[in-house]
Amino acid sequence: MSLQIYVAGQYYDKENAKISVYDHGLLYGDGVFEGMRSYSGKVFRMKEHLDRLYESALAICLTIPISKEQMEADVNKTLQINALKDAYIRLVVTRGSGSLGLDPNRTSNPQVIIIADSISMYPEEYYQKGLKIVTAATIRNHPAALSSRVKSLNYLNNIMAKIEGLQAGCIEALMLNIKGEVAECTGDNIFIVKNGAIRTPSKDAGILEGITRNAILDLAKSLGIPAEEVTLTRHDLFVSDECFLTGSAAEVIPVVSIDGRTIASGNVGPITTKLIAEFKKLVHS
Ligand code: PMP
Repeated sequence: MSLQIYVAGQYYDKENAKISVYDHGLLYGDGVFEGMRSYSGKVFRMKEHLDRLYESALAICLTIPISKEQMEADVNKTLQINALKDAYIRLVVTRGSGSLGLDPNRTSNPQVIIIADSISMYPEEYYQKGLKIVTAATIRNHPAALSSRVKSLNYLNNIMAKIEGLQAGCIEALMLNIKGEVAECTGDNIFIVKNGAIRTPSKDAGILEGITRNAILDLAKSLGIPAEEVTLTRHDLFVSDECFLTGSAAEVIPVVSIDGRTIASGNVGPITTKLIAEFKKLVHS
């Protein structure tokens, strides 16, 4: 049976799941989304993902046509219908279709889409050996233009940085903010380890406040690993003991080289290894 995709409350075969070409989600990137994972049939931190989705929608004056409770039930139903236990779930809410022109008042029927599928962010070898990343010249969107905490359908800022990374032979790229401070990667948050403590940019660095990031901060606290949300520069990264990225799709992945500088010995470090193992336990608990 073909994968069943939820569009506005109905299920369609993958091939027939469609929305209008007049949808402002397509025409203008006007909408919001979420990406989350289920492990053994249970969505990891679903409440946090739904809170972020509804807050993103609120920030762009988009009313999601179903309640959070209904959304949660529909996500679970989508997993069940597709008999998926370990899956990646993409929630999309578009502004809906309308006439041409930016005015959201010209649209009606915001579309809720739920896709439950599998995703492989990075090849397995990078989880063992670590990623090499480069800094993109494209800076992260200025938070006064659009808050980076809104997970909007317009990801061109990050895609431009991703292209720069790919052109430099790296599958992920680092993005700085307007002040030249470390913000995050194109689809992942970044951490370093220094002298036994983990450090990650704070929310005011203009980042998406990652749910995996927050889970790692909680995990570190429970393991007695000091954790700080601080301003980081590229220099801090270059002289770090370890570095890793976090994201719902990527989970926790080590970084061993940044802009041609090898991080410490170039091997995946002990704290990263520990956090990867503990994160696995947490998501399956
Ligand atoms: N930063 C950006 C720009 C992202 O798109 C994402 C999610 N793909 C993340 C960080 C990680 O967030 P989360 O852990 O909530 O998936």
